[in-house]
Amino acid sequence: MASENIVIKGARAHNLKNIDITIPRDRFVVLTGLSGSGKSSLAFDTIYAEGQRRYVESLSAYARQFLGQMEKPDVDSIEGLSPAISIDQKTTSRNPRSTVGTVTEIYDYLRLLFARIGHPHCPDHGVEITSQTVEQMVDRITQFPEKTRLQLLAPLISGRKGEHKALLADIGKQGFVRVRVNGELRELAENIELEKNKKHTIEVVVDRIVIKEGVESRLADSIETALKLSGGQLLVDVIDQEELRFSSNFACPICGFSMEELSPRMFSFNSPFGACQECDGLGVKMIVDPDLLIPDMDKSIEDGAFLAWTGSTSNYYPQFLSSVCAHFGIPQDVPVGKLKSEDMDKLLKGTGSQKVRFVYHNDFGHHKEAHVVFEGIIPNLERRYRDTASEGIREFIEGFMSAKPCELCKGHRLKKEVLAVTVNDYNISHVTSLSIGEAMELFNQLTLSEKEQLSPILF
Ligand SMILES: [Zn+2]
Ligand SMILES: [Zn+2]
Repeated sequence: MASENIVIKGARAHNLKNIDITIPRDRFVVLTGLSGSGKSSLAFDTIYAEGQRRYVESLSAYARQFLGQMEKPDVDSIEGLSPAISIDQKTTSRNPRSTVGTVTEIYDYLRLLFARIGHPHCPDHGVEITSQTVEQMVDRITQFPEKTRLQLLAPLISGRKGEHKALLADIGKQGFVRVRVNGELRELAENIELEKNKKHTIEVVVDRIVIKEGVESRLADSIETALKLSGGQLLVDVIDQEELRFSSNFACPICGFSMEELSPRMFSFNSPFGACQECDGLGVKMIVDPDLLIPDMDKSIEDGAFLAWTGSTSNYYPQFLSSVCAHFGIPQDVPVGKLKSEDMDKLLKGTGSQKVRFVYHNDFGHHKEAHVVFEGIIPNLERRYRDTASEGIREFIEGFMSAKPCELCKGHRLKKEVLAVTVNDYNISHVTSLSIGEAMELFNQLTLSEKEQLSPILF
């Protein structure tokens, strides 16, 4: 049983004056003192440094060669210390990208964990993406009971348009007899005509096998042949039962989806490598909220009902709005709540490609006339919000927006393939949504293979 205290004797790092101190373990302990009194020297340069050093020492020689030699801190002894992590002090920020996990850097450790031992899956088929050896495929296939009949197929074309004549002829020349075309078995000897403009799926029947003792070597040979033919894919049609797919490439055996080697940055919603493309990793999308744009439905357009287009800085937008209303015969002097819903739709969502005569008088008395398309108040604000380089304009427009959960990532902030990487069946977003108690339970139950136990420290 670990001791109840961390006992430090003779700490002399930096300005520490050979101090002895006993700190209770498993408690929330605060060090206070004047600036320069040695708080960080004790916490970081002594306790954390020693905890980290012992952690590294505990690793195998193989693992240690990847990490630098760590200096022993200037201290006589420290007892009761476990491996430690440190979190730097940070000023709090109101950045919507930050979470408790990212500010404390705990999320960095999670990213590292997922990058090193995460299991990638095909985001569309849920199949784990692994590369399997021929022996592993043989092992799996021979688990079927004796007398199970199956055929081994090499998938060549999957849902691609064309007659595929050359391909079919080539397979025939290689000595294969049967193919499965769009799920139907055909002899290569017959003239297989495919409609040019339709999508087809073609698989070569490499072998037909009945499971019995001693079938392994023939199975292995045929699997090799199928993999060579298809470039790493094997389809096993178990007669009257299921179909199994295997891949010798690091790829989804069904659709061929593959993933580059996992890296910590892929798990960051603040990096383009990980962030959901739709919401840029925010998990929410800012969209113009009509209730904020028109807070008072009793106001008319003349009175400035559309708050974002009242022209606080320039009279461009009010004049544009006035031209649009004139063109479509929309009254500007009645409460907007009384406008016909199709007129309101035109104003908010735009009027398509139809051009509007726009007469514009600027503040200096010049006047211009143009025929322009009216994109609509909401698309206009959202476009300017996206494109503007001005923080002021962005903030102004944000005042009329509210956050809606992102439809693509459902608020999980990461790309779907990143969310399909799991550790103990949890993806990284699930882990971060756990309470501290639940997270502790998860990590206490984490069972890792020997290889996995070693991998996280190979930075
Ligand atoms: Zn897939
Ligand atoms: Zn998203």
